[in-house]
Amino acid sequence: MQEYQGKAVFGGIAIGKIFVYQKDERQVKRTKVDDVEGELIRYQEARESADKQLGELYEKALLEVGEANAAIFQIHQMMLGDDDYNESVENIIRTQSVNAEYAVASTSDNFSQMFAAMDDEYMQARAADVKDISERVLTVLGGSDGNKMTFSEPVIILADDLAPSETVQLDKEKVLAFVTVHGTVNSHTAILARTMGIPALIGTPVDLSVARNEQVAAVDGNTGILYLEPDDETLQGLKDRQQEEQEKREMLKLLRGRENVTIDGKEIMLYANIGDMKDLAAVMQNDAGGIGLFRSEFIYLGRDNYPTEEEQFQIYKTVAETMAGKKVIIRTLDIGADKQCEYFGIGQEENPAMGLRAIRICLMRPEIFKTQLRALYRASAYGNVAIMYPLISNLWEIRRIKEIAKEVEQELTLTEIEFTRPQQGIMIETPAAVMISEELAKEVDFFSIGTNDLTQYTLAVDRQNPELDAFYEPNHPAVMRMIQMTVDNAHKAGIWAGICGELGADTTLTKDFLAMGVDELSVSPGSVLPLRKIILETDTRSI
Ligand code: PEP
Ligand code: MG
Repeated sequence: MQEYQGKAVFGGIAIGKIFVYQKDERQVKRTKVDDVEGELIRYQEARESADKQLGELYEKALLEVGEANAAIFQIHQMMLGDDDYNESVENIIRTQSVNAEYAVASTSDNFSQMFAAMDDEYMQARAADVKDISERVLTVLGGSDGNKMTFSEPVIILADDLAPSETVQLDKEKVLAFVTVHGTVNSHTAILARTMGIPALIGTPVDLSVARNEQVAAVDGNTGILYLEPDDETLQGLKDRQQEEQEKREMLKLLRGRENVTIDGKEIMLYANIGDMKDLAAVMQNDAGGIGLFRSEFIYLGRDNYPTEEEQFQIYKTVAETMAGKKVIIRTLDIGADKQCEYFGIGQEENPAMGLRAIRICLMRPEIFKTQLRALYRASAYGNVAIMYPLISNLWEIRRIKEIAKEVEQELTLTEIEFTRPQQGIMIETPAAVMISEELAKEVDFFSIGTNDLTQYTLAVDRQNPELDAFYEPNHPAVMRMIQMTVDNAHKAGIWAGICGELGADTTLTKDFLAMGVDELSVSPGSVLPLRKIILETDTRSI
């Protein structure tokens, strides 16, 4: 048995087989082929098909994001037509009598290494492009390992780190737990684990080259320990505790259907955070009163192109209908920083968390924004939908948003498309927004405090940097005072203020939040009932 101490980001115990996720390790097999000419034709056909895809992507991007941003697809088309690249692939197929997948993967490795070694920064950046185009050809060839994150039975995933775009592709039914070597407590991978309600550890110093798929492991999400091949005694102890936790969960289920009211009669809205439709089951099981944060950007991640208005409408409509009149607050896309989508064509940034992200993208590329707003407005006819805008830091931003939303309303009205005007709220997650919350409150219907970002921007600590964990303190007095200020200014303007960042689920602070006048807490579905228990036991007069 080997033990590794990590940091727990969600409690609970998982026991099962492990799956070691090795990033960038495409498992392309080298196989001999008899029909070399046939293999060359397979390659050419795949290349042409990839070229066609890129042409389509270029046309679409041209309309949606303008010429400068669409240019990347033309560059990829040029690279795919490059003689040296093609000759290399064909030469490998011919001289070694091997499959096209292997030839493409080898060429990709060789060329990207060559580019990476060049002095010129522009040329170095082409290394990623070569990998990208090769990836596309491999996908067409069917040699893609795009399915490497799907499993036949539930597994414990062991990875160096997981990007949000990778986590969204997971078949969530098949994940017992996550364990990563890197990552931070407030990364979106950790948030996703909490939403799924599964044990998760980060910063676990396990040697991935030693761990093997199928090995039995146990994850203790309370102590933060990963056990590889646990001995019988440890396994039995963990199974007993798993049983106890199950019993506790059963007890909490008795709180389903109860109102969230304190002893002295204060009622609080207790909502759930979700990342996609699959989380709705957990929302129901945990009896959340609504959805306080639907991170819509997860719809955009893990795919090759923008989701259409119709695709988005269907998702939002399903969520609104399923929640049957309960509030559904959908946040407009918060792409950027750690949530990168290649097709947005956001270049390399020195400081991505302070860069082109969230509402800034929407305001700079209104066509993308309008597509989402149209889908949201249309879905509003099917339930109690509210829209929430992330990363606001200026008054003019919300005014401009309202102008764009008005245009959307007018377009829909002109074409006689049904909608019910959704409530409009903003996230308070920059110190600037806190400081001008008095003015902002007059412009919107509600505030939702994003403590994850508010902490990083207030304390100047990158939420993605594990080295800085000791400095990332979401309950720092500065953050707590900002929450108080935001709530007070919201109330002065007659609107409500909630918390949808991870701090909202910290049960040691629930009483304080209630005393501060916080009106809503939106947390991962698994945290709803534990919070309800505390609310029911609290008397704010004695805090
Ligand atoms: C936050 O910043 O607190 C928040 C809820 O948004 P996200 O974690 O998705 O950035
Ligand atoms: Mg945020």
